[in-house]
Amino acid sequence: MSEKKEVRVRFAPSPTGALHIGGGHTALFNWLWARHNGGKFILRIEDTDLVRSTKEYEETIMSGMKWLGLEWDEGPDIGGNYGPYRQSERLNIYREYAEKLVSEGKAYRDGEAIIFKVEPGQDISFKDIVYGQIDVMSDGLREKDTDKLKDIVIIKSDGMPTYNYAVVIDDHLMNITHVIRGEDHISNTPKQILIYRALGWEVPEFAHLPMILGRDKKKLSKRHGATSIYEYRDMGYMPDSMFNFLALLGWSAGDDKEIFTRSEAAELFELSRVTRKAAVFDFDKLNHINQEHLKALDPMVRLGMVKPFWIEAGLPVSEHDDKYFADALTLMAGRGRTAKEMAEFSDYFVSFTPVKDRWNSEGLDKEKLNKFFAALFASPEWKAEALEEIARSWVGAQEGAKMKDFAMPLRFALTGMKVSPGIFEVAELLGRDECEKRIKYFFG
Ligand code: GLU
Repeated sequence: MSEKKEVRVRFAPSPTGALHIGGGHTALFNWLWARHNGGKFILRIEDTDLVRSTKEYEETIMSGMKWLGLEWDEGPDIGGNYGPYRQSERLNIYREYAEKLVSEGKAYRDGEAIIFKVEPGQDISFKDIVYGQIDVMSDGLREKDTDKLKDIVIIKSDGMPTYNYAVVIDDHLMNITHVIRGEDHISNTPKQILIYRALGWEVPEFAHLPMILGRDKKKLSKRHGATSIYEYRDMGYMPDSMFNFLALLGWSAGDDKEIFTRSEAAELFELSRVTRKAAVFDFDKLNHINQEHLKALDPMVRLGMVKPFWIEAGLPVSEHDDKYFADALTLMAGRGRTAKEMAEFSDYFVSFTPVKDRWNSEGLDKEKLNKFFAALFASPEWKAEALEEIARSWVGAQEGAKMKDFAMPLRFALTGMKVSPGIFEVAELLGRDECEKRIKYFFG
């Protein structure tokens, strides 16, 4: 048996925009396949559109990939044995093979341009790992209006290679074993196969990925909300959750497992389990996944995610130490779907100001409540359990009183919220002095 070839895959973005959901998804599936097989993940920048390509976009794409945790093994910034990894730096290579095709009579010149001849009667069917058998004859590659067999421009008159040509040269020279990309490229694949054959090269395996749709089943676009990966970062979604969520668009681990880390996903990933059915971008699912990852985070890491949102809201984060804040967020665990929401829901731990802003005393029986508070503050111990014990027995001693009639106003005075973690736990963490200050302010 021949030795198994090292799996080599690539993500080949054109730097003409930010890293979008679709691009991130394609990059991620390539990464998963490389890691699953112990292979290599290559980043190649397809910047032959000189007008629309920019260095800035190249950089945002790279930092978006890094944010998602998709580190590459070879690429324009780190090099590798198969470089250069930017198409604009490979023009002489494209020229060389185009000349070869011309000299072999497989391509011809038309002015400055070089055109690849499409011969009729060729079977250019292929078996896609995801979509299965795709049957195409070269005769099908016809010009729309004239119905003439359509030759393929490989070098344009400005000297730049076209996508369908450059991609073949690069995928071959970079030893790519699996071409994993969006299903919008299925129709390009037969043309690429013709070029592989003309050059006498082995054709790689193809796996096209399903389209990503919005909830209305239309192609995901700006209308559906944020489309760039960074917008999700800025909304407080965690890279781990975004990774987890994108991995589940068109793939599942085969059981009900929905929450996983990068390495778990890499271990479980199989190209053969990718579905052809378009995947729907479901915000509820993203929120659920993010919430689960937030819950599972190390408290200090979680604080690192939440704190910037407190700062952004103008809250005085220097008034407490990180241990206090991390404890507060541990209490909050499971509340808030994003770091941003968690920051909003926990602002009262940072400062009393937002509590005052939300306060209204409508319908409160101040006198009665004050007796309840006095009982609480008489506690020798400022611990959740002790406070709850006191509250229960005090309320129990009142004719017809219910715990919630006292716990709710207490919660509102301490947090300015109608929902919060257990209010006695909140009180313990805030501390006796701070609680006294807040209660006095509203009821004193
Ligand atoms: N630059 C192409 C794109 O962004 C790459 C397609 C491919 O992976 O072959 O769509």
